[in-house]
Amino acid sequence: MVIRHDTDCTWIGVPVLPYKEDGTIFKSVTRQVLFDGTGDLPVQFRYFEVGPGGHSTLERHQHQHAVMVIRGCGRVLVGDTVHEIGIRDVVHIPPMTWHQFRAPEDGPLGFLCVVASDRDRPQRPSPEEFAALSGFPGVGDFIRV
Ligand code: MN
Repeated sequence: MVIRHDTDCTWIGVPVLPYKEDGTIFKSVTRQVLFDGTGDLPVQFRYFEVGPGGHSTLERHQHQHAVMVIRGCGRVLVGDTVHEIGIRDVVHIPPMTWHQFRAPEDGPLGFLCVVASDRDRPQRPSPEEFAALSGFPGVGDFIRV
């Protein structure tokens, strides 16, 4: 089966959902689930779009992410390092690794993300963990909670 895309990064018949439920800290992010796997392919294939000036939640968890940027550019924290990312760059978020995506002020950051269907809940940093993360070069100015 084929899900055709509409203009930009929207897909016909796929709802554009809020990124997460209430109670997590993010800004200007939407989510589309392009594939919801079962059987021998128990993964979800999602598209996220972080709007201009927006960011995903600063979090970590046991499950991994495999990400490919397909719209715009931005920056991502992986562990203790902030990376510039752009179209077709691939990002791997290993288990229990702090991560956060940010879009620039003047445009969106859109990326595909593969994740296990059965996965643990994200953790957010304690005040002590946040302080420790902030000590790494370039990270204190980058992270948002
Ligand atoms: Mn995550």
